[in-house]
Amino acid sequence: MHNLILYNANVIPLRDDNARTELVAISNGRISWVGEKSDLSLLKGPNTRAIDCQGYTLVPGFIDAHCHVLAYASSLMAMDCSPAAVRSIEDIQAALRKGASAAPIDQWVRGAGYNEFYLEERRHPTRWDLDKASPDRPVRLSHRSGHALVLNSLALSLAGITSKTEEPPGGVIERDIQTGEPTGLLLEMNDYMERVMPPLGEAQMAEGLREANRGLLSFGVTSVHDATPSNSLERWLAFRRIKEEGIFLPRVTFMIGAKHIQEFLEADLAVKGGDEKLSLGAVKVVLTATSGALNPPEDELWHTILRIHEQGFQVAIHAVEAQAVLAAGKALSQAIQRVPRRDHRHRIEHCSECPPEVLRELKGKALLVVTQPAFIYHSGERYLAEVPQEMQPWLYRMGSFAKAGLAPSASSDAPVVPPNPLLGLYAAVTRMAETGRLLSPEEASSPLEALKAYTLNGAYAAFQEKERGTVEVGKLADLALLDGDPTMVEPEHIRDIRVMMTVLGGEIVWQR
Ligand SMILES: [Zn+2]
Repeated sequence: MHNLILYNANVIPLRDDNARTELVAISNGRISWVGEKSDLSLLKGPNTRAIDCQGYTLVPGFIDAHCHVLAYASSLMAMDCSPAAVRSIEDIQAALRKGASAAPIDQWVRGAGYNEFYLEERRHPTRWDLDKASPDRPVRLSHRSGHALVLNSLALSLAGITSKTEEPPGGVIERDIQTGEPTGLLLEMNDYMERVMPPLGEAQMAEGLREANRGLLSFGVTSVHDATPSNSLERWLAFRRIKEEGIFLPRVTFMIGAKHIQEFLEADLAVKGGDEKLSLGAVKVVLTATSGALNPPEDELWHTILRIHEQGFQVAIHAVEAQAVLAAGKALSQAIQRVPRRDHRHRIEHCSECPPEVLRELKGKALLVVTQPAFIYHSGERYLAEVPQEMQPWLYRMGSFAKAGLAPSASSDAPVVPPNPLLGLYAAVTRMAETGRLLSPEEASSPLEALKAYTLNGAYAAFQEKERGTVEVGKLADLALLDGDPTMVEPEHIRDIRVMMTVLGGEIVWQR
């Protein structure tokens, strides 16, 4: 019999026929009936809980196809230095001072989410700025992008970074032009820092994960893809423990860091291993052009991709700059050509700059794009000010990706921006920055397309479309109830829509 019935709802099942329905019944964690209000009396047994949804809109639970769970959790434990919380370097100093006063003398002080463009000073803080806030405790201040960070003088010396330190491959140590002294700003140096900085304590991490769990469920997110490039077997086992403890409920598709494939093969964890709560996803490869040159160089990239492809894995390449996206597209299509494989579903993560000649390279090869529409909302102003005008039309495209058959799926890249799909939907449909200014409006999605990017396309990008992404009988009962219909309200009002209830595996896991 059915355990739970949600009736009197405006159900957007996202099936091909686009038909709406009014009622969804659930049994044993799966959708067991989709139909009309009048079916209620027929379906309701003595032990069925029936909830009147009062006409609210019911959609498949949102899928965040690219985020970083542990980094998001730990960012929630750091001092908030995001544009929502600080306006100037002085504000950052005040936040860090507060963090330092609460921390034991040997503990690192963490700040997260700063974005220099939105600071009054319009520059990155330096080690000397941070020294003023905390001279005697090491400080690590992370940039919103996750690709830059600032250390204070003590942290630099603990990390062994001096004027004589050479850059690790792909990394940049910013230096004072006159003296050659490191200014504290480090680019693409996360791997390096992971080796020198102690991880967050277990209790603190657990607390961060609980908060991340609450945050995601309150946004209606029921599945996430963790795209962290350093994901190892050890971390997979940590995720297993986290899932067993039940402190983090959204289903996790765990990407494998390219350097760690062997560990998984040796542990006999085959391609797509795991279960509905935690499963293995693509192999993550990072390709950057931050320092001007491609890292890894094209030759090495090609060998890496070919090897991963030959081993039968799905590949996910981080590529932001047009140069990197082009190289990623080329490497993938050459690998597919060399070793043909049906249904590989190789993904390009971000695909931020995609001018026409690059899009042509991606088209027709069954590649997928995983994009971040909410960046337009949170960073649109910055793109308009800093990205060369000729590149702006090709930034975070969406409409063209859909037309080119790249089935764009949407994500937050949290902690880069908060994992709120409704802001992403809003930005995908309106192309508006927080201030209301427009970024390439010709790339706008229809509300239905944008909804698919946050549900079905995300499921497809992880080979899970038979289990997730639409409201259909037999699928996992992962649902979000909204107090507005994103396909009916004026686009400017999509961001005001609130999640009222989140259902995961047939359980009500969050309610407003
Ligand atoms: Zn990412």
